[in-house]
Amino acid sequence: MNVSTRIDEAGFVPASRISSIGVSQILKIGARAQAMKRAGAPVIILGAGEPDFDTPDNVKQAACRAIERGDTKYTALDGTPELKQAIRQKFQRENGLDYAADEITVATGAKQVLFNAMMATLDAGDEVIIPTPAWTSYLDIVAIAEGKSVCVPCSAQAGFKLNANQLEAAITPRTKWLILNSPSNPSGAAYSEADYRPLIEVLLRHPNVRLLVDDMYEHIVYDDFRFATPVALEPRLKARTLTVNGVSKAYAMTGWRIGYACGSRELIKAMAVVQSQSTSCPSSVSQAAAVEALSGPQDFLKARTESFRERRDLVVTGLNAIEGIDCRVPEGAFYTFAGCAGLIGKMTPAGKPIETDTDFCDHLLEDAHVAVVPGAAFGLSPFFRISYATSEAELREAIRRISAACACLGGRADQC
Ligand code: PLP
Repeated sequence: MNVSTRIDEAGFVPASRISSIGVSQILKIGARAQAMKRAGAPVIILGAGEPDFDTPDNVKQAACRAIERGDTKYTALDGTPELKQAIRQKFQRENGLDYAADEITVATGAKQVLFNAMMATLDAGDEVIIPTPAWTSYLDIVAIAEGKSVCVPCSAQAGFKLNANQLEAAITPRTKWLILNSPSNPSGAAYSEADYRPLIEVLLRHPNVRLLVDDMYEHIVYDDFRFATPVALEPRLKARTLTVNGVSKAYAMTGWRIGYACGSRELIKAMAVVQSQSTSCPSSVSQAAAVEALSGPQDFLKARTESFRERRDLVVTGLNAIEGIDCRVPEGAFYTFAGCAGLIGKMTPAGKPIETDTDFCDHLLEDAHVAVVPGAAFGLSPFFRISYATSEAELREAIRRISAACACLGGRADQC
């Protein structure tokens, strides 16, 4: 939805700052699917970007204790000392990174961390390199901060990953940031140390380019994949890298709204200025819960990741068995980003042409009652994203329906 088209009876016109920004297509598809469900259609929604697990009990109990002891007031601007200490230890323990408390920030979700970073650093027209497919919020946050997103399409053949030549070609004198996200939403692709090394070489040749790495899905990696993060690989990047993470995905805490990052003291201070005039501080109770998440038992992460892996395999195998669909095996996160090029140009049984991945996803929603998100929403077509953070039974049924809906395309009405 382009907000500039929404003018109310009192003549309200949105500020130009947000006129080009859309409400997330993911939320729109979700809302449409929910409306169909309320109307009685048996819709399976594979669009949500959150785990189906519950927040661990020890984390909930820590939040209850915080309420009981009266931790219900404003906290320190960008994180309580206790949470910053837990984050310091997390970075040391899991990533081999050493940051002081004033080089760490906590915000209302990683989304606010990104927002604070862009608002604190971008002047109008400053460029941010974003490899696509990418999480749509990067582009919108850059736009709100009046920056310019420079999207670099990364093909399925390249594992949806940016290479050194592409990075070198995208850098201009106006480049402020490169944003990398590994494992990725929406593709599930993850950068290994070997993938990062050539990109790091390019960055070392361009000292004015800052690096924002979004490690949100760090704990959800499969098989023998070894998670890597750039500053641990190249300490010379430390001064200009913001390493972003959060508790939303790994700890099933999307609703608690806690994200965090480490970076240079000066950048962290500037980000705190933005936060001081927007949310003042993250929720006190959620911060207490996040301390427990990061410092408490971590063994359940492995079991949850194993459960995601089983579901990944089910979905990838199911999709690749469908003629016209091609799905790469993702290294992490809980998404698959499958190609549907083989179905473009076909016709639905109702006689509607499938010209784009959006048409294909509309067909799946209307005729198969399965809600998935088109690649166009993430800047790369023709693909579609499935979030497999749902039950195996639902996933099996969804694959069955997608398969049937694809068999119906292209005049094979006998199979519908
Ligand atoms: N980064 C990525 C890649 C995401 O997919 C998301 C959420 O979907 C976020 C950051 C934001 O997470 P939160 O604001 O819940 O901490």
